[in-house]
Amino acid sequence: MPLLTFLGATRTVTGSKYLLEVGGQRILVDCGLFQGLKELRLRNWEPLPVAADEVHAAVLTHAHVDHSGYLPRLFAQGFRGRIFCTPGTADLCRIVLPDAGRLAEEDARAANREGYTRHNPALPLFTEADALRVLGSLQPVGFDRGVPVAPGVEVRFVNAGHLLGSAFAIVDLDGSRPRRIVFSGDVGRYDRPVLPDPEPIEEADLLLVETTYGGRVHEPDEGGARLAAIVRETIGRGGKLIIPAFAIGRVEEVIYWLKKLEDAGRIPVVPVLLDSPMAIEALHYYSRRDGELDPDMRTPRGEVSAFVTRRFQLVSSPQQSDEVASSRLPSIVISSSGMATGGRVLNHLKAALPNPDNTILFSGFQAAGTRGRKLVDGEREVKIHGRMVPVAARIEKLDSMSAHADAVELVRWLSHFKRPPGLTCLVHGEPESMEAFKLRVEERFGWRIRIPDYLEATEV
Ligand SMILES: [Zn+2]
Repeated sequence: MPLLTFLGATRTVTGSKYLLEVGGQRILVDCGLFQGLKELRLRNWEPLPVAADEVHAAVLTHAHVDHSGYLPRLFAQGFRGRIFCTPGTADLCRIVLPDAGRLAEEDARAANREGYTRHNPALPLFTEADALRVLGSLQPVGFDRGVPVAPGVEVRFVNAGHLLGSAFAIVDLDGSRPRRIVFSGDVGRYDRPVLPDPEPIEEADLLLVETTYGGRVHEPDEGGARLAAIVRETIGRGGKLIIPAFAIGRVEEVIYWLKKLEDAGRIPVVPVLLDSPMAIEALHYYSRRDGELDPDMRTPRGEVSAFVTRRFQLVSSPQQSDEVASSRLPSIVISSSGMATGGRVLNHLKAALPNPDNTILFSGFQAAGTRGRKLVDGEREVKIHGRMVPVAARIEKLDSMSAHADAVELVRWLSHFKRPPGLTCLVHGEPESMEAFKLRVEERFGWRIRIPDYLEATEV
């Protein structure tokens, strides 16, 4: 009997990782890092429950670190198989994984230098060199065509509309009892700019569906009205607007909206600074693969113009970043990481948080235990680089800019199934979201739903 074991994203939004065992083959679907709560992050340091050199292949739904960032660790433990993903995911992995390694090294160095670690010396989870070793094994496969990943196992990617290259992974097992497993990865949104709608899926024997916003419905954005109000108020006070954004995915949509509001005269023209080397690289990939984006975004020669405001500036060097952080000029700074767990945005937060004229605007989901979550939950001080920083700036969040489907959109995606999946497992959500979504799906469709635990296994 084929067996699927849940190695992550169980009752939490990070660490997506599922082990499929069939006919003596082992395939890992998604290979993400845990982020947020310390008890979860510690799992990144543990070896996999199976020997990594006995895993034959990996399949990635998309390039976000919580779905791909464990790959360097997998290689360090002896994995040597191929990693099947879409070309867009392969492109983004080439920037995401080395960056994650660099960040881990920088954090370890800073912790050792400034002494805010209990480990002596603090070691990085993996290095940039570890990450670079992974890249040669990426095996890009276009959307909508089946490819064998192991004997009797075929995978097909279907556009999920969540990020450039993001896909639902449809895994078909042949044999006397053919089986189809659908991994939703992260599900995108309907009728949004930049990315296309998630494509419908019609059948599965086993379905894994993400539930990040399974208990919520996104506020309507009324053509960017809230973002416009936040920009006008902050700039009107003479403050700075800091937008922590996931370097790949969210940055594009944030800039798209700022440009749209600027063009319509709904916000003042102020400097918009993009301080994220990774986001700058990702913008190029978005422009190059505009055929995979929302039809509105397609330009004759893949111009980047959709992603540039009038006083748009790229911040490249760390020195420039420091200058921007210490400047008090009214401006908009977009920087990562999106949950303020690391990256250059920390410098901007350190400088901007103590000043009540400034606004920090979160544009995506904030996982439990992250600095972003603490700020959104109203903590009056947060620790950054080992120092407590008082919070006087206004803290806002805009769920409408999320890349994840909300509860209504998830149900809309499920409604395309022609018959109920044999079993539907809820993953990639916090427990309350999962419980709420379970009820919603049971009421609406009457499907068999399970909320798996860490290391639980199910027969397929
Ligand atoms: Zn994602």
